[in-house]
Amino acid sequence: MAEESNPFQTLQAQLDHAARYIDVDDGVLTALKQPDRVLETHLTVERDDGELETVPAFRAQYNGARGPYKGGIRYHPAVNRNEVIALAGWMVFKCAVVDVPFGGAKGGIAIDPHAYSDSELERLTRAFSTELRPLVGADRDIPAPDVNTGSREMNWIKDTYETLERTTAPGVVTGKAPDSGGSAGRVEATGRSVAIVTREAVEYFGDSLAGKDIAIQGFGNVGAVTAQFADSFGANIVAVSDSSGGVYAPDGLDPAAVSAHKAETGSVSEAPGVDQAMSNRELLTLDVDILIPAALENAVTADVARELRAELVVEGANGPLTTQADNILSERGIPVVPDVLANAGGVTVSYFEWVQNRQRFAWRKDRVNDELDAVLVDAFETLTETYEAQALPTLRTAAYAVAIDRVTTTMEQAGTWP
Ligand code: NAD
Repeated sequence: MAEESNPFQTLQAQLDHAARYIDVDDGVLTALKQPDRVLETHLTVERDDGELETVPAFRAQYNGARGPYKGGIRYHPAVNRNEVIALAGWMVFKCAVVDVPFGGAKGGIAIDPHAYSDSELERLTRAFSTELRPLVGADRDIPAPDVNTGSREMNWIKDTYETLERTTAPGVVTGKAPDSGGSAGRVEATGRSVAIVTREAVEYFGDSLAGKDIAIQGFGNVGAVTAQFADSFGANIVAVSDSSGGVYAPDGLDPAAVSAHKAETGSVSEAPGVDQAMSNRELLTLDVDILIPAALENAVTADVARELRAELVVEGANGPLTTQADNILSERGIPVVPDVLANAGGVTVSYFEWVQNRQRFAWRKDRVNDELDAVLVDAFETLTETYEAQALPTLRTAAYAVAIDRVTTTMEQAGTWP
């Protein structure tokens, strides 16, 4: 059988797999395997030279049983309908794993943003926000940053929505800049959560993160911040990579120095302290204690999984393992901490941002971080209790067992609408 690389099918396979171990009605499972709706549109933007260009854009709203749809907006040439649906579905289960009262959504524009000027990106973002206007709202669907978007794009979305609606509604989007209603601690929340969950997982398996060698694929918002927090917990970050390739230093890299180098040159290549360059493939199969794929989906294929030498994999990115790779690691007894828990810190602090916007009261950073740590530690405990109590095969199955139970309970309580 050809290896699965359609992330929507990966999500459906994960749900089918989890359903074998838990009590879920077939009809409900079928409903959970499809999105509520998908907006597929085309945005026409004027380039700086006056030419018009038309690009595809999507927003999938997957399931809104537990609250407003919630999920990021990605700018990447590979954005497509199936990817957006899968990412929206993962948001449903991620929010449920950390018990945040949101449903799941995801959106994106199929462009390489590096090929556009800032003003072109602003026009595109405002065109997308105009298309999204009937769908989004603080109580309907709340976008956030994802790959190649950040607080700047979120501020534009908020401003477009508020201007068109003739209101102020900071809670329509999260991941804003602090002066525009963003939360303290939001930018680093995802990487912080990956590092905290890695620490919890290592301790769960009876060890300590101090001195552990870690390789991280992807040195963006998630990967770079994960490196900094894991380093501060005493781990050794021996290899990192981005789309230009990887770098390796067996005695450990200084994540802050690599971040500064990447900010200056645009890549991790030739960062200070590097002993040798390596390909992304070499990084993924490096002899380390922990591998953290934090770039994009399907990075770890079956081939990579067969050769992978780490003792623990923590999914920083969404869906970084193909289904076959996941099965191979399970057969090889290499535990995988699933994305729906590991990187859930981003949406958790997005939830705190939304709460602060509704309260019109900004929390101090210490409060944000303390609440985040408590949510993650509780979620990890619930997951491992379920894993053990129900004798489930993997931590991912346990995460889906917890999440599916929460989503379906709410669906059952809501009843059926004719
Ligand atoms: P980003 O754009 O900031 O960084 C992505 C990084 O991956 C970049 O360094 C890029 O060079 C690198 N990359 C891309 N293709 C690569 C390849 N083939 N090999 C190696 N590196 C490659 O994006 P991000 O926000 O860090 O998101 C990364 C992942 O984490 C995505 O799966 C995203 O959905 C997920 N995620 C992000 C957040 C968030 O808050 N930003 C929250 C949850 C999950």
